[in-house]
Amino acid sequence: MTETLEYKGYKVENVAGGKADFYVYTDLCKGCGLCIAKCPKQCLKWSKEVGLFQTPAVEPDAAACIGCGACAMTCPDSAIRIERK
Ligand code: SF4
Ligand code: SF4
Repeated sequence: MTETLEYKGYKVENVAGGKADFYVYTDLCKGCGLCIAKCPKQCLKWSKEVGLFQTPAVEPDAAACIGCGACAMTCPDSAIRIERK
């Protein structure tokens, strides 16, 4: 049986020149900052949205993000998803 899970979160549309959408699942983000440290464009910053422990979640600068997915690969809690279009 397949179960569909829904997580709280938000979406930043049209990063990487419109080639991708960027999702952050706030139920999963624990605010560790690893993704910020690993972003090659240094375009991730703390968000006004809060994560699992009421610490800031993250959000990309949509204009600077290249949609490489390094942040999503780095996140130990799978709190980021990059959806290429
Ligand atoms: S997808 Fe790449 S460029 Fe965009 S925020 Fe993540 S690590 Fe940075
Ligand atoms: S998205 Fe993942 S790596 Fe980034 S701060 Fe949240 S838990 Fe840490």
